[in-house]
Amino acid sequence: MAERAFDVLVIGAGAAGLAAAEALTRAGRSVLVLEARARIGGRVWTRSMPGLDVPIELGAEFIHGAAETTFALLERAGMRWIAGARTQRYAARGRLREVDSFALAQKAMKDRSPLRERDLSFEDYLARRRLDARTRVFARMMVEGFDAADPRRASARAIAEEWGDGDALLGAQPRLRAGYGPALEWLARRAVARGARLRMDCVVREIRWRPGRVEVTGKGFQFKGKKAIVTLPLGVLQSQAVQFNPKLGKENCLKLLASGPVIKAALRFPSVFWDRSVAFFHSPGAAFPTFWTPLPARVPLLIAWAGGPKADRLSGFPMKKVTAAMLASLGTTFGKVEEPDQIYVHDWKSDPFARGAYSYVLVNGGDARRRLAAPLKDTLYFAGEATNLEGESGTVSGALQTGQRAAREALR
Ligand SMILES: Cc1cc2nc3c(=O)[nH]c(=O)nc-3n(C[C@H](O)[C@H](O)[C@H](O)COP(=O)(O)OP(=O)(O)OC[C@H]3O[C@@H](n4cnc5c(N)ncnc54)[C@H](O)[C@@H]3O)c2cc1C
Repeated sequence: MAERAFDVLVIGAGAAGLAAAEALTRAGRSVLVLEARARIGGRVWTRSMPGLDVPIELGAEFIHGAAETTFALLERAGMRWIAGARTQRYAARGRLREVDSFALAQKAMKDRSPLRERDLSFEDYLARRRLDARTRVFARMMVEGFDAADPRRASARAIAEEWGDGDALLGAQPRLRAGYGPALEWLARRAVARGARLRMDCVVREIRWRPGRVEVTGKGFQFKGKKAIVTLPLGVLQSQAVQFNPKLGKENCLKLLASGPVIKAALRFPSVFWDRSVAFFHSPGAAFPTFWTPLPARVPLLIAWAGGPKADRLSGFPMKKVTAAMLASLGTTFGKVEEPDQIYVHDWKSDPFARGAYSYVLVNGGDARRRLAAPLKDTLYFAGEATNLEGESGTVSGALQTGQRAAREALR
């Protein structure tokens, strides 16, 4: 049992928690970060695969949108990024044809008039638009894949806002040369060097709080702080795996957000069998509708991606079944191909410390992120991608930004 009360307890060592810890220690505060996993990073999980000279990202991979906070971090850490490629093909009638799914998705959302009076689900919005079949198919694929959302539940207004301005969707999507992992490790090192304590394998079960006092407990530990920054993922908050005492009073806004499922896999092949100039391959009807390559790196690696309802259908099943669906999708997209000789897979919905890949807004949930982000009694502060109010939810940059915001709020 620790007697000492830290200035701030930070729950979770993902992008938001580490950004918060780094900012708080910079301001001279005593900080304890409690993390359930044996690793930092949360939904950033950079691995390597023998024989491949590129980072393997099982979580976040691209730099989406303007991402000012990410670029500022890379600058400070002296880390490099590489431009991405956007060439796409989709499988139709046994051939791979050109497509720009980003542009088609944007075209689908162009007319906002059906949303002027009220919010609709993305599916209802599509039903009110006159669009050709291909635009519909790819717009739906983008909602499911890019936003990990269920088109029957997702707010069309929120999607229009996200896709509308072009940057998030149409801009190039660079990657970090060494992956996101080292960037977050850099933040952790900075925080620890300034005195932050970082405790791994600490699954928080209960947070008791009153103004100016927080007590966090789990199996075999109890820590005290004057304040806490909670960066638990949306799905974890919704599951009530962590009990707050007294309750947060945020139950209503939690019902207006959802945590989208994603299954992401990395497949290494004996050789590159695809067109080396193409970045993304789609087969919208397949269980895994999207594969991508690490272009500009030309190595025998494909990333397989299922998001939204397609991931939901496979989530929780034994890996054998998931892998079989992935290999069948590979066949649908590329025809007969060699078997991969190594596969890493992660099912983010079944991960108890993520319970989904990233958040999206449900119909009429326009204000939910703001309500979730609101601090309580100058004592509890909320960070994490789902609380981003700058249009960067669902991203690393957005998560970093909320960690810095919560640190500023706690320092006030
Ligand atoms: C498959 C996938 C692909 C993605 N692709 C991209 C991309 O290309 N670009 C991009 O910008 N973003 C991407 N994202 C989103 C990005 O990864 C997240 O928005 C961001 O990493 C979230 O950071 P966070 O700090 O909010 O949450 P997290 O990283 O989830 O951090 C929360 C931490 O809390 C810990 N925790 C959970 N429960 C407990 C508990 N009971 N006690 C203690 N600790 C607990 C977790 O282990 C975790 O470390 C992707 C995400 C996924 C899953």
